[in-house]
Amino acid sequence: MKTDVQIAQEAKLQPIAQVAEKLGITGDELELYGNHKAKVSLSVLKDNQDKPDGKLILVTAINPTPAGEGKTTTNVGLSMALNYIGKKTITTLREPSLGPCFGVKGGAAGGGYAQVVPMDDINLHFTGDFHAITSAHSLLAALLDNHLHQGNLLNIDLDRIVWRRVVDMNDRALRMITVGQGSRANGVERETGYDITVASEIMAILCLASSLTDLKERLGRMIVAYNTEGKAVTAADLEATGAMALLLKDAIKPNLVQTLENTPAFIHGGPFANIAHGCNSVLATRTALKLADYVVTEAGFGADLGAEKFFDIKCRYAELKPNAVVIVATVRALKMNGGVVKTELSTENVAAVESGSANLIQHLENLQKFKVPVVVALNKFPTDTEAEFSAVKKACENKNVKVILSDVFSQGGKGGEELAREVVKLCDMGESQYQPLYPLELPIEKKIETIATEIYRADGVEYEPEAKKQLDEIVALGFDHLPVCMAKTQYSFSDDQTLLGAPQDFNIHVKEVRLSAGAGFVVVITGAIMTMPGLPKVPAANGMDITEDGEIIGLS
Ligand code: ADP
Ligand code: MG
Repeated sequence: MKTDVQIAQEAKLQPIAQVAEKLGITGDELELYGNHKAKVSLSVLKDNQDKPDGKLILVTAINPTPAGEGKTTTNVGLSMALNYIGKKTITTLREPSLGPCFGVKGGAAGGGYAQVVPMDDINLHFTGDFHAITSAHSLLAALLDNHLHQGNLLNIDLDRIVWRRVVDMNDRALRMITVGQGSRANGVERETGYDITVASEIMAILCLASSLTDLKERLGRMIVAYNTEGKAVTAADLEATGAMALLLKDAIKPNLVQTLENTPAFIHGGPFANIAHGCNSVLATRTALKLADYVVTEAGFGADLGAEKFFDIKCRYAELKPNAVVIVATVRALKMNGGVVKTELSTENVAAVESGSANLIQHLENLQKFKVPVVVALNKFPTDTEAEFSAVKKACENKNVKVILSDVFSQGGKGGEELAREVVKLCDMGESQYQPLYPLELPIEKKIETIATEIYRADGVEYEPEAKKQLDEIVALGFDHLPVCMAKTQYSFSDDQTLLGAPQDFNIHVKEVRLSAGAGFVVVITGAIMTMPGLPKVPAANGMDITEDGEIIGLS
């Protein structure tokens, strides 16, 4: 069995200009980054404004096991499969972060014969977008600390500075730091810390912005601190907006690459799926919809978080009307949801698949609330058995949803043919009936309650006193009209990661509420949410290398 990187290095890539030409992108609209990567000018979207949109397909998943269950792989594979049956398709994905790449999870460019390439570049520095975001974020941090040093004319309350620093690395030692140590010339001493770049509000903004002007407006609205009267101090107050936008002038443009079968792929932006919305950029999705008949896109984590935020945040802001949802399930994740421990997932266990299917069923029922038709893609692993597949199909029998085996990991597009045909059928059912779960006019607490009861099936929501205070403040600041962005464990419908399957009789506990005024959502934090992950005892980085002649080892 070949490794992901071996398969990727053997791929026959087309020059990216040729891939772009198939989409009608030529000349100045394409900015080449070598032979196989390019940025696409924002004018492509503007010039095609009047063209009708293609069909939009969301790829989401059941609650995953710690390894990830194959959303990206299925996303890439399905787009190749749609191409294989003659449909003009673009895949749109998030950019991978270096943190997880060198940590536990490995890269995020798909797997097996369903990958986007050049996977090494995509997983590493790519076109520098994350570096640009880190720089813009760092600039604002530097301007803020300089403002304090130069006399603090805005009367910023030193105890209420919310802007931290970021770096694209899993580095637990930076979670809490002290800046400004030493003499007066070194600035004002205070405690702060680092988050990973994908947790930066600038990342969320870059992914929701509809234009450079919109980007600037959102950047300017970001709250960096509160003054001694409790009023918000924004990036605009620090006169940081223009320079940040300047640093992001190229990062805002979608990146074009290709799949192993030369399907065009826009890989752009990568916000966290917990404290942010976890989807690739609005600009990439919108541009893709103008250039292709089918666009396949992914949302992070399971459908309880990813799909809900895709529908309630991204689609609402970007006025997207999705036509179909593919929910990825694996026999192993269903078994885990049925109570099997991680080390036993390779052994046949039909009973566990049956009971774990309760998780899939609840996601199916939830997705139907957004009025978009659904199909289950069963991502095939070598250890799965026929009896286990049948158990999943049987569990979904009376839900009016097809369960289709997807073997894109081993076969590429051909292995997703049946899935692609079903997706086309769903997309051809007429106009999208998509509707968000809740209207924005609801009070914030009602929005949270709606998600908790309708999607998680909690009995109710409990707030820590501090969280209640934060909510009141957000309302007082005039932000109660924003959508909510839930930060919850991805492993369970509840906020307790040990409650698998379809748990009942629980409450959701809100510990903290944060305002992302620039991105345009209220972050509701349940449980301990890590915005600066750490590395495991044996990080993936330990197994990576490059030889004298350029062969890459250990990147997956
Ligand atoms: P997600 O997007 O849901 O996090 P990925 O598509 O990134 O998941 O897949 C997670 C890991 O599982 C990757 O290393 C990928 O290569 C591997 N993987 C996915 N599907 C399969 C499969 N059918 N067989 C074997 N490995 C797979
Ligand atoms: Mg993924």
